[in-house]
Amino acid sequence: MHGHDYDVIIVGAGPVGGYLGHQLSAGGLRVLILEEHKEIGKPFQCAGLVTPSAMNRVNLHSSILTDVWGARIHSPKGVEVNIGDPEILRTHVVCRKLFDEGCVRQAIESGATLWLGSKPIDAIHEENGMRVTIEREGKNVELRTRLLCGADGVHSWTRRYFKMGRVREFMVGFQVEVSGYEGISGRLEMFSGEDIAPGLFAWVIPNGKAHRIGVWAQPERLDGRSCEDLYDNLVNHPLWKDRFKDTHQTGRFKGSLACGMHGNIFKDRVVIFGDAAGLCKPTTGGGITPGFDQVDMLAPHLVTATLRNDLSATHLKKICKPVEKVRKEHQRARILRDLFVSSCDDDELDTTFEIFARSEVVSLINEVGDIEKPVPLGIRLLKDIPEFRRMAIRATWALLTG
Ligand SMILES: Cc1cc2nc3c(=O)[nH]c(=O)nc-3n(C[C@H](O)[C@H](O)[C@H](O)COP(=O)(O)OP(=O)(O)OC[C@H]3O[C@@H](n4cnc5c(N)ncnc54)[C@H](O)[C@@H]3O)c2cc1C
Repeated sequence: MHGHDYDVIIVGAGPVGGYLGHQLSAGGLRVLILEEHKEIGKPFQCAGLVTPSAMNRVNLHSSILTDVWGARIHSPKGVEVNIGDPEILRTHVVCRKLFDEGCVRQAIESGATLWLGSKPIDAIHEENGMRVTIEREGKNVELRTRLLCGADGVHSWTRRYFKMGRVREFMVGFQVEVSGYEGISGRLEMFSGEDIAPGLFAWVIPNGKAHRIGVWAQPERLDGRSCEDLYDNLVNHPLWKDRFKDTHQTGRFKGSLACGMHGNIFKDRVVIFGDAAGLCKPTTGGGITPGFDQVDMLAPHLVTATLRNDLSATHLKKICKPVEKVRKEHQRARILRDLFVSSCDDDELDTTFEIFARSEVVSLINEVGDIEKPVPLGIRLLKDIPEFRRMAIRATWALLTG
């Protein structure tokens, strides 16, 4: 080991840190995962949607609470759009604690070491590796590693400590878990409007026996309101309040998301992953699938490079290049999201929903819509639906230059 205690130290034992730890250990690296909390998966900040593509990579089907095949989407004035096909599974809803624990367990089973209650407080780049000082249960421990990976979430210590760049867009969310909501089996619900979810959407997601009710907002559009205010507006909205009247809260939490990065996801011998790298989807806020995608793209090359101790800036740049494609795709998705949702006022949203509700548009959404890849649907809507063609003029330039 030539003086290295580990080949890789991963900061953060969330789903992405766990999945990364598993891939790197399985590739033959000596991996240490640091988690600042004393327990995995707590506190959790997630609506629990995990796409089949992500689920199949970790095979944690026992964490699934229910499945979703469709959605009922509401415009600000109550135009309803029903999409989906009961025969086509769109996403799973999981218990995030079980899911996160499963991802980290797989890393341990393939050889990784997990330190709970531990966080880095200092890291120095040396000629042949990194020297990392870790605060572990009140004591400081110094370790040497070839590579340091930050999978430490939206407010990543690693990203900030190494000044790796700024997050392009933050979104804030608030979610309440309730019993007593009369939902429709297999379908989630989405609500829009300036009073409820400025710039984005609110949701009701079934999770087996109960429901998760949440709101997303762009912070700059909150205008002095809190996410809790938006939630109150949703559950007391004259159009929908009857649906919420018998609900009882069993849990609540707040959190934020990072979409897109200005800057690099690598520096010296440091690489950031998942939320730390701003990889959440701007359309849904989903971060697990893009985080896993990033691990799949980079891990095999990082294994080879670490075993050879060839982690020069030039080599890391080459290894990290494929992530640029994901970033560009998210940027295109953001432009389309802004065109159809975020930059629209409530009247414009109502007009758009009236078009969405037409049977030929619903068919198009069902045929092309994909929670993982929203860009093809956005482009088809702009091309095929005459009323949206005027948007296409604005969109084309933005999409080309985005
Ligand atoms: C309200 C809300 C709803 C969401 N819903 C969904 C959804 O339905 N589907 C979806 O795919 N995504 C969703 N997301 C996003 C999703 O939660 C994240 O994208 C996902 O958790 C990212 O995983 P991660 O491993 O990168 O980061 P995290 O899950 O944030 O894990 C990071 C880990 O690092 C630890 N950590 C942080 N700093 C340190 C440190 N300095 N030292 C040691 N440990 C540290 C943390 O304790 C944590 O365990 C939602 C987010 C929010 C806020």
